[in-house]
Amino acid sequence: MRPGAGGRSRAVPGPPPVAAGESPAPPVKVAGREVPVVTRVNPRARRIALKVDVIADRVVLVIPHRRHEKAARRFLDSKTDWVAERLDRLPPPLALADGATVSVLGTPHTIRHCPDARRGVWVEGGAVCVSGRAEHLPRRVCDWLRARAREEIAARVAVHAERLGVTPGRITLRDTRSRWGSCSPSGGLAFCWRLVMAPGWVVDYVTAHEVAHLREMNHSPAFWRHVETLAPGLRGPARAWLREHGTALHRVG
Ligand SMILES: [Zn+2]
Repeated sequence: MRPGAGGRSRAVPGPPPVAAGESPAPPVKVAGREVPVVTRVNPRARRIALKVDVIADRVVLVIPHRRHEKAARRFLDSKTDWVAERLDRLPPPLALADGATVSVLGTPHTIRHCPDARRGVWVEGGAVCVSGRAEHLPRRVCDWLRARAREEIAARVAVHAERLGVTPGRITLRDTRSRWGSCSPSGGLAFCWRLVMAPGWVVDYVTAHEVAHLREMNHSPAFWRHVETLAPGLRGPARAWLREHGTALHRVG
């Protein structure tokens, strides 16, 4: 399962996150604005690669070795039109703020700040209500979404696993950029928490896909037969939905 990650609020812009193995590089001027750049050394990379990080609005230069840094920079400087086009095509970022609309299992919910309620986060009349101080609201909504993701994903994994007669290992939630779900050789399942914003049938498919890997650690015809048993007719539509809307899920928060 491909694409997914990040959790920054537009309301409180901070420096772009720099992960382990990355080093910040001078920003690049693209269409009149400065876009942050990081360099990531990956010894397994075969060549210099240029990526647009859709979560952090930044450019990532992947290089096999530090000695490729200058060449990578020249490559980037020759590709600014491509970067501009990629950034242009991104859906607008969605801050988890009072009045914003966020999807929960595909159903739009308005975020409503209820400062005096002292009730945490709860759903009422199609709204996600959030008590407490305004500056904590984005984090609280994000934590609540992650908790909902855990419940929804765990429930679906349990149903699929029982049907297939398998026992899943630990379920881990991540903020993955490249995958919606994965299955480790030891049977642990990992999912991107942002799936909770997709329609329920998309979550059905992604969980069915990973549970089916507990029987077949490959994408063989036998594997796809298991997926079809667990989530009949969902493979094509779910993959199409994620291709079309996945980036927008990554632009939330
Ligand atoms: Zn797979």
